[in-house]
Amino acid sequence: MSEAVRHVVIVGGGSAGWLTAATLAAAHRADVPGGLRVTLLESPDVPTIGVGEGTWPTMRDTLRRVGVRETDFIRACDAVFKQASRFDRWTEDRDDDRYYHPFVLPQGYLDADLVSAWMARDGRVPFAELTSFQPQLCAAGKAPKQFSTPEYAGVANYAYHLDAAKLGAFLRDHCVRTLGVRHVSDHMTGIDSHENGDIAALRTRGHGAIGGDLFIDCTGLRSLLLGEHYGVGVVSRKDVLFNDRALAAQVPYADPAAPIACQTISTAQSNGWIWDIGLSARRGVGHVYSSTHTTDDDAEAVLRAHIEASGGPRADDVPAPLKLRFDPGYRRSFWHRNCVAVGLSSGFIEPLEASSLVLVELAAAAIADDMPATRGAMEIVARRFNDAFAYRWERVIDFLKLHYALSRRTDSEYWRDHLRPETIPERLRELLQLWRHRAPSRYDLHRVDEIFPSASYQYILYGMGFRPEGRVAPPHDAALQQAEASVREAADLARRMLPALPSHREMIDHIRTRGMSRI
Ligand SMILES: Cc1cc2nc3c(=O)[nH]c(=O)nc-3n(C[C@H](O)[C@H](O)[C@H](O)COP(=O)(O)OP(=O)(O)OC[C@H]3O[C@@H](n4cnc5c(N)ncnc54)[C@H](O)[C@@H]3O)c2cc1C
Repeated sequence: MSEAVRHVVIVGGGSAGWLTAATLAAAHRADVPGGLRVTLLESPDVPTIGVGEGTWPTMRDTLRRVGVRETDFIRACDAVFKQASRFDRWTEDRDDDRYYHPFVLPQGYLDADLVSAWMARDGRVPFAELTSFQPQLCAAGKAPKQFSTPEYAGVANYAYHLDAAKLGAFLRDHCVRTLGVRHVSDHMTGIDSHENGDIAALRTRGHGAIGGDLFIDCTGLRSLLLGEHYGVGVVSRKDVLFNDRALAAQVPYADPAAPIACQTISTAQSNGWIWDIGLSARRGVGHVYSSTHTTDDDAEAVLRAHIEASGGPRADDVPAPLKLRFDPGYRRSFWHRNCVAVGLSSGFIEPLEASSLVLVELAAAAIADDMPATRGAMEIVARRFNDAFAYRWERVIDFLKLHYALSRRTDSEYWRDHLRPETIPERLRELLQLWRHRAPSRYDLHRVDEIFPSASYQYILYGMGFRPEGRVAPPHDAALQQAEASVREAADLARRMLPALPSHREMIDHIRTRGMSRI
C-alpha cells in the first residue's frame, strides 16, 4: 500500500476530463521527465454532453494557472464575459419581475448595514441595484473591462459564457502541446483490478490495457468507473429540486452585430425555467423542467415559443433541441479506492447558477493540491475529499432551493410543490428562520472555501423581496450613515464606469481582432 503515485489516468474528454488533466499536469509538471505522468483516454464514439456554457469567475484563475492566454481562449471558445445572473419571473409571474445576482460584492459589504439602507427605502429600489454598480453595467450592455485592461484583469468581476464543445478541443490542444498530457483516443471496454480491489488498468479496443496508479472518472453521466464498476450510487435529491430533464437549442443572432448579453438570463416557467446565454456568434437557450410536472412535448413547445418571443426564428423553424435526462443528485462518495469521479460522473443537480463546472475546478484543484504521494496516503486524502465535496453538494442544493422556496408563484403544481416545507432542506429552513431577524453573514457559512458566500444569499434573498421582520434593536445612526455612504459609492461607481466602458460586443470584437495585453 505504499507504492508511489506516478501515473494518473483520466477517462473522459469532456470539460471535466480536460480541465482536470490541465490542472494536474500544470501543477505536477507532466511536461518534464520525473514529473507526474498524465494520460487522458477519450472515446471517439461517445460524444461529450455538449452543454455547460455558463461559468464562475473562478474559471479565470483556473485558466491562468494552467498557462492559457485569455485572448486565445476567448477566440477559440467563442467566449464572452458574464457579470451576473438575471432572474426573470421567479418571484411573481409578471413582466416586470426581475432581479440580479451580480459577481461584484455589495459595496462596503463587510462593514456597512446595507440591508437597513435597503429597508429604509421600503424595498422600492432592488437590493442589487442599490448596493452594487454591476447590474447597471449589465443593463447597459457594457463590458467588465476596457480595451487597455490586461488579460484576466477586470474593472468589474467577471466569468465567461463559452461554447462547451470548443472548450474541450481548446484545452486538449493546450494539454497535449504544452502541458505534456498523453492523449489516447480509444474506447474503454473493461477494467482490470488488483487483488485488493483497486483498479489496475483500463482495457481499450486498440491500445491494450492502460495501467496507472490513480484513475479519474470523467465519463459523464454514465460514471463508468465509480458508478458502474464500483457500484457507488447516487443520493437522489429530486425530492428537493425537481428538475430532471433539459432541452438545449442553439439560436443564431438575427443580426451578427447584435448586442451580447453580459449576464445569464434565467426565466422561470410554469414547470421549470429557461436559460438564455449569449455567445459571440449565437445564443444557447434551453429549458430545464420536471418530468413529474410536465411532458417533453409541452416543455419543447414552451422553449420554442420563448425563442420566437426573444427574437429568434419562428417557433416552428427552431431545429430540434438536444434532449437530456438526469437524476438530480450526487454520488454517495466521490473518491473510492484509487478512483475519483469529477464532473457529471460525480453528480449533477441542475444548471441554475452554473455550479457544475466550478465543482470540476474545485475537485481538480483539490486533487492537485492534495495529490497523494503514495497509495498508502490515498485513504486519508480520499476521506477528506469525500467530506469536503459532500458538504459542497449539500450547500449547492440549499442555495438552489432558495430560489424556489422564496417564490410567491402559485400558478402551477410545480411552484406549489416547491413551497411544501418537507421539500426544503432542514438547514435552509433554519437559516431562513434566522434571517427573519438579521441578514445572512459569513458566520452562517463558515468553511473557508464556501461555494456560495453570504453575499450571494443576500442577493437572492432580498432580490426576491424577502423582508426581515424585525431585529433586536434599530440600527445605530452611524451604521446607517456608513451604509448610505456605501450606497452613494455604488451609484457613483456606476456613473463613472458607464461612459468609460465599451459595449460588450465592441470589447469582444476588439479581442477577436486585436487581442489583449498580457498582465
Ligand atoms: C442541461 C445542462 C446544462 C448545463 N449547463 C451548465 C452551465 O451553464 N454551467 C456549468 O458549469 N455546467 C453546466 N452543465 C454541466 C456541464 O455540462 C458539465 O459539468 C460539463 O460539461 C462536464 O461534463 P463531463 O466532462 O463530466 O461529461 P461529458 O461531457 O459527458 O464527457 C464524458 C466523456 O466521457 C467519454 N467516455 C464515455 N464513455 C467512454 C468510454 N467507454 N471510453 C472512453 N471514454 C468514454 C466521452 O467520450 C466523453 O469524452 C450543464 C449540464 C446540463 C445537463
